[in-house]
Amino acid sequence: MIYLDNAATTKPFDEVLDTFFEVNKKYYGNTASINDYGKTSSKLLEASRAQIAKILDIESKNIYFTSGATESNNIAILGAAEHKKDFGKHIITSKIEHPSVLETFRTLENKGFKLDYVNITEDGSIDLEHLKKLLNKDTILLSVMHVNNVFGTIQPIDEISNILKEFPKVHFHVDGVQGVLKNKININKVDSYSLSAHKFHGLKGIGLLYVKTRRTVNSIIFGGGQEDNLRSGTVNLPSIVSMAKALRLYSERLSEMNLRHINYKKYIVENLSNLKYVEINSPIKDNYVNSIINISLPKIKGESIINSLNQDDIMISTTSACSSKKFNLNEALHARGLSEENIKGSIRISFSYYTTLEDVKYFVEKFKEKYENFREVIESGI
Ligand code: PMP
Repeated sequence: MIYLDNAATTKPFDEVLDTFFEVNKKYYGNTASINDYGKTSSKLLEASRAQIAKILDIESKNIYFTSGATESNNIAILGAAEHKKDFGKHIITSKIEHPSVLETFRTLENKGFKLDYVNITEDGSIDLEHLKKLLNKDTILLSVMHVNNVFGTIQPIDEISNILKEFPKVHFHVDGVQGVLKNKININKVDSYSLSAHKFHGLKGIGLLYVKTRRTVNSIIFGGGQEDNLRSGTVNLPSIVSMAKALRLYSERLSEMNLRHINYKKYIVENLSNLKYVEINSPIKDNYVNSIINISLPKIKGESIINSLNQDDIMISTTSACSSKKFNLNEALHARGLSEENIKGSIRISFSYYTTLEDVKYFVEKFKEKYENFREVIESGI
């Protein structure tokens, strides 16, 4: 099986699974219990927090463990809006965000906040000039993703932080899921940043939220107050320790992996861009990651291409595994101004540490074979 759907999720590293098993077996005490078992678990929790903090170059006290980026995004966005609601009602995000951000902003809009979407350039980036025009004295919240999950653009997070210096009231949240470590930024410059372990060979259902200043984000989940009252619920120690392991291994393997990904992307772009009807939506450029390639075959449905490759045991996806169900067209591609045909015919190929050049070559070979059939369909005008 050739797995090229890593932007949706990655295969856990074997060492991560071993850690998960071991912690479940040996350290099942509740981190909040004051007995010795609880204390040992709590020590392990804090050691994991410190390890993650070191790798990400942030302080451990600013890390809050959650069930993943969906929860982290919800806590940051709703919690910051709740904290700032008396200081302004204007909030900004973009239409290329993940549904866990977009739908949360729309919930705030329904509650009376004024929502603006910052424009996206044809190249898939936040339009900084438009952002400057949108920002005003009433703005309290901005959320922009680090790397887009549909076509892989790296967003200008540092530039946005600089623009925001003139607007100190604005809470700047960054969804870091697809960008963490792959593209180096100083996380300390943003107000909050979210992560999900399963995108870097950790487990599903575990993630974190970095918050620079705890009091600027109100709690939206109430209970035992385990994570400094920002996130309640029994701490998922086995998954957290496994996440720390995954992040360490990922950080150690990253530069070698990136070098391979550059070659894989080049190979695909070089081989497919000369096919008459193929459109490359993720060009080889500095503001794109190498691990995500979005391409379109206008007039052919993305689902048909995926099903056809699936027959040869190649797993890729349409634009995103979790695009908002409310829209027929992928919102992120639409925001970039791609034509309807182009959006409907788009597919996403994404790499991980485990992807090999052989996988990529096999994909290209099979894609070219299928292309001949699709070309006939396109040319017959059906
Ligand atoms: N943000 C982005 C950019 C993502 O790609 C994902 C996962 N598809 C999420 C947030 C949500 O992560 P999770 O499903 O693990 O909560």
